Amino acid sequence: MYLEKFRLDGKLAVITGAARGIGLACAEALAEAGAAVVITDMNGEAAMQAAATLTARGFAAEAAMLDVTDPRAVEALQEAVIARHGRVDILVNNAGIAISNRPAETMDDATWLKVVDVNLNGTFWCCRSFGRSMLEKGRGVVVNIGSMSAEIVNRPQEQSQYNASKAAVHQLTRSLAAEWAPRGVRVNAVAPTYIETELNAYVYNDPEMYRHWVGGTPMNRLGKVDEVASVVLFLASDASSLMTGSIVLADGGYTCW
Ligand code: NDP
Repeated sequence: MYLEKFRLDGKLAVITGAARGIGLACAEALAEAGAAVVITDMNGEAAMQAAATLTARGFAAEAAMLDVTDPRAVEALQEAVIARHGRVDILVNNAGIAISNRPAETMDDATWLKVVDVNLNGTFWCCRSFGRSMLEKGRGVVVNIGSMSAEIVNRPQEQSQYNASKAAVHQLTRSLAAEWAPRGVRVNAVAPTYIETELNAYVYNDPEMYRHWVGGTPMNRLGKVDEVASVVLFLASDASSLMTGSIVLADGGYTCW
């Protein structure tokens, strides 16, 4: 009975920013559990390659180009997916960017706006469009990728725009959860620690930064993409049927100290 709850057979999942990194791992996890996945990314060619990799492994995967900062493109994709599949059961808002080492007092407008545009606005546009179709069906699950940076202030790098954008994603998660719970749509978020992805690749060339990040983590390591994707799978499945508005930390204990 319990393992069955993790199965996603017959479900359709849309994942943003899924051509690589955490998003691709999420697509893989949901596909392994039986969902058909739509891998979307700003880089359409990379999304196609990612989908082809999953298809070659026998999973149901397709690709679509999507820049989440374009609300019209988000709405158009939502309409295309509904026209093709009739519904969206799961939305994973993963697309996000981080620009670090930007002291607030000298931050340029473009950096602030870009990070907020992708991380917060993009998440909202996708929730609005895909959430509407879920509400029409009376069921659906949204999982947002937040960050532990919404709960703590990272050291030593300055990144107030990232931290603020992710805090907003967490509060957006709770707000939509409360609005949509009576109509059958759950909204939760995962808040990861530092994960080994291209976004963090620079840390390997910065031993002091690496020591700071790892040394500040009780588990004494960075996380891996599959360790985030496992939590996303849980939140996307009926195994978490009582959960909405939850922000699930997957942080190796970072926020304990
Ligand atoms: P990556 O940079 O490895 O992957 C992000 C993907 O999103 C890329 O394929 C990128 O495309 C795509 N993307 C960027 N901007 C847009 C956009 N406007 N529209 C659609 N797709 C876009 O990131 P991660 O896998 O590391 O991070 C994924 C999520 O997890 C982000 O929201 C991030 O903030 C969050 N997170 C990451 C942590 C980490 O340590 N890595 C920790 C906590 C949270 P392109 O290749 O073209 O840039």
